[in-house]
Amino acid sequence: MGVTTQNSNHLLITVEEALKLILEKINPVEAELVPLTRSVNRVLAKVVVAQVDVPPFANSAMDGYAVIAADCQDASKQTPVLLKVIDNVPAGATPTKKLSPKKAARIMTGAPIPEGADAVIRFEETSEYIPAPAREGPGGGSLAEDEVLIYHTVAPGDNVRPAGEDVKTGQVILEAGHCLRPQDVGMLAAIGQAKVWVHRRPRVAILATGDELVDVDEPIEPGKIRNSNEYTQAALVEKYGGEAVMLGIARDTVEDLTAKIQEGLAQQVDLFLTSAGVSVGDFDIVKKVLAAEGEMQFWQVAIKPGKPLAFGELRSRDNAGHVTGNVPLIGLPGNPVAAMVAFEVFARPAILKLGGQRSYEKTALQACLDEEITNSGRRHYMRAFIHLEPDGYHVTTRGSGVQVQGSGILTSMVWANGLVVVPENVTYLPAGAPVEVWILD
Ligand code: AMP
Ligand code: MG
Repeated sequence: MGVTTQNSNHLLITVEEALKLILEKINPVEAELVPLTRSVNRVLAKVVVAQVDVPPFANSAMDGYAVIAADCQDASKQTPVLLKVIDNVPAGATPTKKLSPKKAARIMTGAPIPEGADAVIRFEETSEYIPAPAREGPGGGSLAEDEVLIYHTVAPGDNVRPAGEDVKTGQVILEAGHCLRPQDVGMLAAIGQAKVWVHRRPRVAILATGDELVDVDEPIEPGKIRNSNEYTQAALVEKYGGEAVMLGIARDTVEDLTAKIQEGLAQQVDLFLTSAGVSVGDFDIVKKVLAAEGEMQFWQVAIKPGKPLAFGELRSRDNAGHVTGNVPLIGLPGNPVAAMVAFEVFARPAILKLGGQRSYEKTALQACLDEEITNSGRRHYMRAFIHLEPDGYHVTTRGSGVQVQGSGILTSMVWANGLVVVPENVTYLPAGAPVEVWILD
């Protein structure tokens, strides 16, 4: 197993190695059939192939007259072409009359093109908009009810949307693993798919640990702090498509932690997230319990913040005590910012993979660094603020007065809209250097 080579970090596994070990133990959850109205933000479990053409028939892209283009080849304002109107086709209707030369059909946007017609000329280029000049000679006066003057040439195919212009029967529309966006939902409706196979939402247990923690609605006593991690993590789980199963706070005893873990396993969760208790302090018992209830794979990663990070698998059992399977557990650090960064780097891809997605890259951009930064041999994810300037994206790692990079400073996470990613082999970056920034929002 590769290791980073600098100073005290030599025993830590890299971010990539840790992520690989985690993802190896994660399998996508099963699929379920949901109605389209419940499908946004869900992940497709099967490829979608169109069984129809969209549009299903050639139709008009304009309100106007369906014509035979050849009839209008010399049309102009000075030399209009007179056509006889034989039909009026609103959207939703089926034209019954076939066009022969010197005939036209009045047609609305979306209505099927009548047989024989090969173009549509807009109302704006006909006597419907520009009144016909008075006719001279015998039979003079204005146009008859069923006559129209065409003032402009038109080419075959103009203003006609052919059948299958958008989608052709047999075309792959969306691949399995794709997370459905509003436009995808509309596309599924357009091809007549009222229900869709998606992965069920993975169930993710969230357990805070620590004797110092009190919950948000409990009275706070001396020496205690609020449990914020569980709420941040539940929100992140939901953001990435999971279902949060909040287990509350476990005290720093093997008995209590074991009991809470059993409670979570009984709720059929697909992944366990704990926070705190993975460091090297007296009461850091998550690793101990993980080893006793399953198997631990690693517990430190070359990342900053978030170095104490445990990963392993818990054994789940049925009522008779027989082992039924393994549930992966990611032991996130306790410091709120470290927990959040470690979540983005490790728990987020795990949840995406569980939920059926196939790529886990965080959306990132390249920005110009506002001030110099130093780094100490671990992959550093620095809270940062991205701002757009006339010459492109810039990013600052210093908030206004907040002590930004302390790993307990949650306000800095509230301030940040990105994370600057500083590679482990980079120890210094001058102001003005281009850097990779993960977009948080
Ligand atoms: P530990 O890893 O247990 O040493 O915890 C590291 C730091 O994170 C300590 O200052 C804890 O008080 C804090 N911490 C642990 N759990 C939580 C939590 N659920 N919410 C907010 N802060 C926490
Ligand atoms: Mg603790």
